[in-house]
Amino acid sequence: MNEWIKKDLKYIWHPCSQMKDYETLSPMIIEKGEGIYLYDINGKKYLDVISSWWCNLLGHCNPKINEAIKKQIDNLEHVIFANFSHKPAITLCERLTKILPKGLCKFNFTDNGSSAIEAAMKVSFQYHEQTGNPQKTKFMALTDAYHGETIGALSVGDCDLYTKLYKPILMDIIRIKAPDCYRCPYGKTRDNCCCECFEDAEKQFEKFGNETAAILVEPLLQGSAGMKIYPPLYLKKLREICDKYNVHLLADEIATGFGRTGKMFAFDHAEVSPDIMCLSKGLTGGYMPCAMFVTTQKIYDAFYDDYNSGKAFMHSHTYSGNPLACSAANAVLDILEDESILKQAQENAIYFNKIIKDKFLPHKNVGEVRSIGLINAIELVKNKATKEPLESRLRTGYQIYKKALKKGVILRPLGDIIYFNPPLIIEKKDMDLVTDIALECLKEILPE
Ligand SMILES: *Cc1c(COP(=O)(O)O)cnc(C)c1O
Repeated sequence: MNEWIKKDLKYIWHPCSQMKDYETLSPMIIEKGEGIYLYDINGKKYLDVISSWWCNLLGHCNPKINEAIKKQIDNLEHVIFANFSHKPAITLCERLTKILPKGLCKFNFTDNGSSAIEAAMKVSFQYHEQTGNPQKTKFMALTDAYHGETIGALSVGDCDLYTKLYKPILMDIIRIKAPDCYRCPYGKTRDNCCCECFEDAEKQFEKFGNETAAILVEPLLQGSAGMKIYPPLYLKKLREICDKYNVHLLADEIATGFGRTGKMFAFDHAEVSPDIMCLSKGLTGGYMPCAMFVTTQKIYDAFYDDYNSGKAFMHSHTYSGNPLACSAANAVLDILEDESILKQAQENAIYFNKIIKDKFLPHKNVGEVRSIGLINAIELVKNKATKEPLESRLRTGYQIYKKALKKGVILRPLGDIIYFNPPLIIEKKDMDLVTDIALECLKEILPE
């Protein structure tokens, strides 16, 4: 075994891992990244078709982002963000205001997605407390939701794999049945649905709307749930019912922001604005830990008063608004503006989805291929007709992952759902390559 791997296993407790699995598959020690490729210490290259946990937006070691960070680091690496500020953060917020859904104009920085979610929940609760609705102490969220893994964020989430064990220490959340378009309980298809499933939201709002501060949603794409995709109409309906019950619509765009769904933000598909939006991941191109919630003038104003009123939002993180992170984020916006990346990605998305459907749908274990933007998911099932899932204990997805790694592709399926969520700059030849290799691996694990 390579000495670096030995030392890695001696010291490091890797995230989201059963460390015993590393006995048979040791960690890949990555030395270098370039575009959509990663290179390990032996020089073997891997196609990073999962964008290094969905955050790498414009390729590894993108020359323009590298340059921006290098330039910034010689001026200022970090400064306390209470009472102090700096040009990179100010510029970033000014620019984001122009591309965010209408009305989102006040920015609060944190340093990871989970903490942005928790700060947003606190701000929503405090808003209601300070505007005469102290009874609004509850939160709503969808089944199968994922909003991060610190205790508050984990509470609003509902993926058993992460949540179940910790239930005794989590908050009580009002759970709304999420759309399930592949196994629609109303017998509808993606083409003929009117979000009949929204009736569960209506029921819960009727019961609990008056005591609810906010509802959290991953707009259009429940990522960790297995890249479950649902229609924009659901968000429009949420907007209406939130207005009716004075409940904040809190959009978790941590995974969907910055072009992942084909538009800049997932909420753009629905043409409505949330009251609060959380951003991270693609925000810095996947370079630096940085996150934020963005909200409206109306919410901001409920906190604006003399100090002794006690209405300030007393929330902080040491690395809030880090200048290096803000510089990376500004460089990302430069690139998105200058290089018509989104337009190109939209065109490529059509091609990508077509070849995935052509290659995978004929396989007897492929239940559905679904896509939004460049994100494509392939749901493996035991039985296509009944949509019966594979037995999870067989870890079919994990077997496919191991095969693909050997062949130089990083797939990392979610259970038995293989997905592609590549950097927006992926080219057609690499789409051909990853889909060929993924199909090969699928056929080796599940022969026809
Ligand atoms: C990744 C993610 C989070 C959590 O962000 P972290 O930076 O990992 O804490 C929250 N919500 C969604 C939708 C995510 O994809």
